[in-house]
Amino acid sequence: MDRIRITHPVARLLRDYHLASGKNKEALSYAFANALETAEGDLLMVMADPDSVFLPGPDCYRDQNQGLLMVHADVRAGVIWRGIKEQRKALAIVETHDHWFSRDAVFSGIDNKDDLRAAYLMQNEFSGKLPEGHKIHFISLLMAQDGWRARRVVWEKKDGRLRPAFKQVMVDILGGNGFERHGLPETGEDALWQQRQSTVIAPRQRVILGSLRVALVGAGGTGSIALETLARLGIRHIDLIDGDPIEATNLNRLQGAGFADIGKNKAECLAARTNALFAGATTVRAIPTLAFSDAAISAMQSADLIVGCTDNSESRWFVNRVSIQYAVPWFDCGTALTARAGRPVFETSNHTVIPGLTACGQCSPVTFYARRHPPVFLSLEMLSQQRAAGYIKNEPEAATPSVYCLNQQSVSSMVQEIMTWLFGWGPVALSVYQNSDNSHVERLDLANPHYPTAPDAACTTCGTRLGRCMEDELPREGSHLDFSQHCGGSPEATAAA
Ligand SMILES: [Zn+2]
Ligand SMILES: [Zn+2]
Repeated sequence: MDRIRITHPVARLLRDYHLASGKNKEALSYAFANALETAEGDLLMVMADPDSVFLPGPDCYRDQNQGLLMVHADVRAGVIWRGIKEQRKALAIVETHDHWFSRDAVFSGIDNKDDLRAAYLMQNEFSGKLPEGHKIHFISLLMAQDGWRARRVVWEKKDGRLRPAFKQVMVDILGGNGFERHGLPETGEDALWQQRQSTVIAPRQRVILGSLRVALVGAGGTGSIALETLARLGIRHIDLIDGDPIEATNLNRLQGAGFADIGKNKAECLAARTNALFAGATTVRAIPTLAFSDAAISAMQSADLIVGCTDNSESRWFVNRVSIQYAVPWFDCGTALTARAGRPVFETSNHTVIPGLTACGQCSPVTFYARRHPPVFLSLEMLSQQRAAGYIKNEPEAATPSVYCLNQQSVSSMVQEIMTWLFGWGPVALSVYQNSDNSHVERLDLANPHYPTAPDAACTTCGTRLGRCMEDELPREGSHLDFSQHCGGSPEATAAA
């Protein structure tokens, strides 16, 4: 289904304007969203930038009565003029109105007429004024006290003529108190196999879980465990990304793979197993490539959630960028196994990035994987040369010790954080760090007053790329987009000695 994703600051602006307590007049507002077509052919729109929201003042209205709500012609013209001037490749104009008097959001007959007329007007205003290949979409968003609804007008050919029709759009809010998805059917199946977790996952939450699309980056020691954990939780659509083959040295920790699987691609092997285990309930699509491939990028762009189980900084920083640019929440897990005074020290770390709400990997106050920010995204050839020469230190294969129970711990705490946010159980954890040496557990969440937790406006990822979607190029392997230009100073090279 088509979706519109709204970041926390934008949702808060709209709520404060449309649903202010004591408000007794319906209001209109306008916002720009960036659009893209997902891997499934749905339209996904991202409304991330508070500066792209226009909240008309009292003098902007020509009529503001029950049943008749209109802004002055020049106010609308201003919105349209700015829409044209923005020159975005795929722009959605979101017209929001409210039924402040109602709990549920239900489009009325008047709304139907208004939305069709507005769509006709927009179509006329924009026709011929956009560069070749640029697209515009008109979205009508309705807010009520407890619910939001959205739809768009599509043009269908009927009897040789183009006729407008409404198409429903789901509304997702990346909220500070959890994830909201409006516009889903109220109930879903009540499957027997999920009965024993029904006291923690309510029917409504099961419907949301079942509707989510997750991009799981990495099908190794942590990714294989995360895959099964997510499937058992009730996630029905998973894109599993990993370009590596299964090696004998992986088998102490690769959940779901055995001796007979050596040589197979990790993503393909584990997808096949999970699809067999949960046939009809979960569909895992294997993407047997690195995170930088077109297929992997398309999966991450189309996802509602990115789960990071990668083992190297190139992928992590790339996922960080995708997460912010497409406003996809990202939960990441990592492990470290070292020796201290002759005994092993188990460490796990989890990071959460909710675009627009929390800091990203770049501006996080929490140490983010030693901040080994690659100055460039190297070509694959150069990467493999560096690996061969032993330059890349945080690659785990063979050399890095790893055990199954440590990976389980890291994935377990990550998935608990995913549930905490999705279901609004409590404040989002920016990071969770666990160390076996001193039984130390450090969970830093949004309620912790000692850490600046919001995205940094000066951050060159959050500050300039949040929700930009297709309007910005992603760094690609071999493209040599220079990160050092954007980071200030000279970032520590990947090839640290
Ligand atoms: Zn209405
Ligand atoms: Zn940032």
